[in-house]
Amino acid sequence: MPHILIVEDEAAIADTLIFALQNEGFTTTWLSLAEQALAEQQRNPAVLLILDVGLPDISGFEACKRLRRFSEVPVIFLTARSEEIDRVVGLEIGADDYVVKPFSPREVVARVKAILKRMVPREVPVASSVDGPFQLDSERVQIHYHRQLLSLTRHEFRLLQSLLAQPERVFSREQLLDGLGVAADAGYERSIDSHIKSLRAKLRQVSADAEPIQTHRGLGYSYSPRHA
Ligand code: CA
Repeated sequence: MPHILIVEDEAAIADTLIFALQNEGFTTTWLSLAEQALAEQQRNPAVLLILDVGLPDISGFEACKRLRRFSEVPVIFLTARSEEIDRVVGLEIGADDYVVKPFSPREVVARVKAILKRMVPREVPVASSVDGPFQLDSERVQIHYHRQLLSLTRHEFRLLQSLLAQPERVFSREQLLDGLGVAADAGYERSIDSHIKSLRAKLRQVSADAEPIQTHRGLGYSYSPRHA
């Protein structure tokens, strides 16, 4: 049974989540401090974290940053007010989704299920994997570029995976967001640009002159084997 870690300092909120998740066949651990949760995730990894932004010890944002040093587990933020979270910041930190309090526990469960469903590795044919500079191993969630292993975040991996699957195809930002499995809105579209930027920086460290990810002004991005 998939195990979910709930990090929330308000017992009443945690209770409704525990009840709703267990009803749907999940097992849960509830902790009220971020530091405890980080230790727990190292000891006994959950498949997904539900992380309150306003925690008594360190903020959920800070906790997520620390989590990302050792884990790419999906994170859903719980926020008290809509303005508490900058959507772009949330996504850049590496959150997968967020919900604003008060929320319906059923909605949270639906989002948990949606994220876990997207985690199931998809078979993506990579035309260039045989003789191109990229080698994609979807089971290990690894991409080699010119025989060097890229150190990618989960979002960067998904982005590159989508682009590599269809060389020369121009993907809109919205289509790339679909590949990441996050809801599309204006803020999230900008965050695609920031993921592309960090991805390009990593590719340049391997091959300084190549530009495998091409920008198409007003349209989006493509993978160009000719420039790889
Ligand atoms: Ca709180």
